Amino acid sequence: MEHPAVDVLVIGAGAGGLFTAARLAHRGYRTLVVERLDRLGGRASSEVIDGFTVNNGAIVIETGGITEATFAEVGARFDVRPATPPILYRLGGKDVDVTGGGWGYLLGKLTRQGAKLLDGLGAARTDDGLPDGELSTADWVRRYTANEKVHGIFRNMCASIFAVSSEDLPAAVFLTYFTRRSAFKRFGFCPEGTIGVWRALADAIEGTGRGEVWLDSEVSSLRLGADGTVSAATVRRAGRDIEVTCRVAISDAGPAATADLVGRDRLPADHTAAVDTTPCAMLVVNFASREPLVEAPGLLSFATTRRMAYVANFTATCPEMAPDGWHLYNGTSVPEPATGAFNADAELELLHADLREQIPGFDGARVLSTTVWRDAWPPQRAVAGHDLPHTTPIANLWNVGDAVKQYANGGTTACAETAALVTDEIAARYPVAALR
Ligand SMILES: Cc1cc2nc3c(=O)[nH]c(=O)nc-3n(C[C@H](O)[C@H](O)[C@H](O)COP(=O)(O)OP(=O)(O)OC[C@H]3O[C@@H](n4cnc5c(N)ncnc54)[C@H](O)[C@@H]3O)c2cc1C
Repeated sequence: MEHPAVDVLVIGAGAGGLFTAARLAHRGYRTLVVERLDRLGGRASSEVIDGFTVNNGAIVIETGGITEATFAEVGARFDVRPATPPILYRLGGKDVDVTGGGWGYLLGKLTRQGAKLLDGLGAARTDDGLPDGELSTADWVRRYTANEKVHGIFRNMCASIFAVSSEDLPAAVFLTYFTRRSAFKRFGFCPEGTIGVWRALADAIEGTGRGEVWLDSEVSSLRLGADGTVSAATVRRAGRDIEVTCRVAISDAGPAATADLVGRDRLPADHTAAVDTTPCAMLVVNFASREPLVEAPGLLSFATTRRMAYVANFTATCPEMAPDGWHLYNGTSVPEPATGAFNADAELELLHADLREQIPGFDGARVLSTTVWRDAWPPQRAVAGHDLPHTTPIANLWNVGDAVKQYANGGTTACAETAALVTDEIAARYPVAALR
């Protein structure tokens, strides 16, 4: 194993890296995934804190879409337990299930202008009906209503799915997502914690007999061959540098880190000028209680919070995530501004104020962890609508993950979608048979 040779080297065992590696190993490529951390999942992982399974990052996984289809295709176990109903909205003091009634029912509960907004949503089903790229989601809603609760619902939808506020998200992205995409209508929790879904993918990769996942190992540089394509990587593993040769390289580290691994001076200036995406931010409080504090079995979203976008109730669907007799939740917010500098202490105060106001009993709850997600470890590496291409100027090097999402997509679903596209491009340009 001193100088391993693989078909495909994948840098990073986050959602993007693992979806791509699983597809490629399944198609016959000798695939090595190298992950710097001691665990799978990157920003969609989990840890155990005093017997509680606490998610670090992504909490819900979409069902019935590209994610589940990928698992089926590569023969991986898809242990995602649907929350039913997936989401309730707290409107006028009641937690309302809008499943089935959809937008019409939700908006009708909030404003007499609901019908006009619904028409606007309907118009967005055609390209001509989409507003231009500059208009924000909040400004699009203002065309129809000034109702604060409606604005609160849209703000919290943008926060929950795209990790920015409705002021930051282009309306065209929001409308495309909700009128033409799967839009996270059905989702669930993994009872092992979100890390469980990545363990299943890693098992499927290794189960092919052609794939390996190395944890605690870091790619420190990529080497280009005489033809200008990636020919090898230096991997720091167990205190030693290992030279791994490869025919194709995939990076889940984000386009900026990928450029650093190659060496920015080896890449065209117009490429390196664009790789530093603007990440967004999120704040999360994980908490537990002996008394049930929330009735919603999945997510509870709000119309009138200062910042809090949702509270997730894990144990209603997955009681094994907490010790017997305990209930496990998290409360999540997006700061203002969602991109750029913000005051983390003040934002945490606002999240706590919302938790105290919306969740009676929160003051007596046990706080397990509080995390501010930002900068190099953000909720989305690029704001939806401002993504970079997944191809690079180097023919055999691709980026995957949430900086290179397809238009109007988000989170782990977007990572699964890009992985499928990248896999097809690799199969077309570097067929397995041609590599041996
Ligand atoms: C608080 C929060 C809540 C969220 N909620 C949801 C949700 O409910 N549902 C959802 O679908 N999405 C959610 N998301 C978004 C989702 O977590 C991300 O979009 C997704 O996990 C990003 O995956 P990725 O593969 O792009 O990157 P990452 O997860 O960052 O993976 C990249 C991996 O590469 C590794 N790496 C980097 N450089 C190197 C190197 N040189 N060598 C080796 N390894 C390297 C990193 O350690 C990392 O593990 C949430 C995110 C956050 C933070």
